[in-house]
Amino acid sequence: MHDPLYLTFVLLFGLAFGSFFNVVIYRLPNGMSLLRPPSHCPKCDNLIKSYDNIPILSFLILRGKCRHCKASISWRYPAVEALTGVLAVVAIYHFGFTIKGIEAALLSLLFVPIFFIDMEHWIIPDSLDLPWILVGLALAFVSGGFVGWKGALIGAVVGGGLFFLIMQLGKVAFKKEAMGFGDVKFAAMLGAFLGGWKLLLIILLASFLGSVVGVTLIISSNKKGKPTYVPFGPFLVIAALIAIYFGDSIIGAYLNLIRP
Ligand SMILES: [Zn+2]
Repeated sequence: MHDPLYLTFVLLFGLAFGSFFNVVIYRLPNGMSLLRPPSHCPKCDNLIKSYDNIPILSFLILRGKCRHCKASISWRYPAVEALTGVLAVVAIYHFGFTIKGIEAALLSLLFVPIFFIDMEHWIIPDSLDLPWILVGLALAFVSGGFVGWKGALIGAVVGGGLFFLIMQLGKVAFKKEAMGFGDVKFAAMLGAFLGGWKLLLIILLASFLGSVVGVTLIISSNKKGKPTYVPFGPFLVIAALIAIYFGDSIIGAYLNLIRP
């Protein structure tokens, strides 16, 4: 699916979703309604007019400042919009308008609010993963997705079960929550969409990335004497994107390696 016109539509679709995700990222963890009140400047409370709410463009035109009070707008807003647009285009460019492409696009879109909310609040809201476990399983029943229904079922059970076990072990070993229930639901969702093999790859990659970043942060924070907590969700997101686009090649290369 390399038609520039189609891809432009996908890009605009992604940018619009990115704009909505900015609302989701800000409001969902704070228990606010996604619909009301309409977007307004947190500094001066002036409503943001639709012509000032165009993804990326408005940020550039307003030079990152509120039209009324000139308060700075966070770089996160255009970044979330651009990221969502690019992820949607990559999914359709790579897989086309197929079940796989729709699954990749859907996951990529959900990854954006999951990444930013977990990063800031250390939670993954239920609405971003719990119902999507069922959607992943349902899509697996339709042929042509990442995995058949058996693989999806195994992926969801193994993902959820394994993380639940790690969560319980963490509680016993560290006397505190080393891993939240959000990661359990999220792993089950990734398993439902991508199957057991890709899920294992995701867990390995995420653990590796997580320990590299974790150790780096611990070393650098010891100088300042502040304790650090690194949420696991963002690493799962990065690992899942790698698994979606390179998983088959990585798993294939590994199986070739261990084959006698
Ligand atoms: Zn303002």
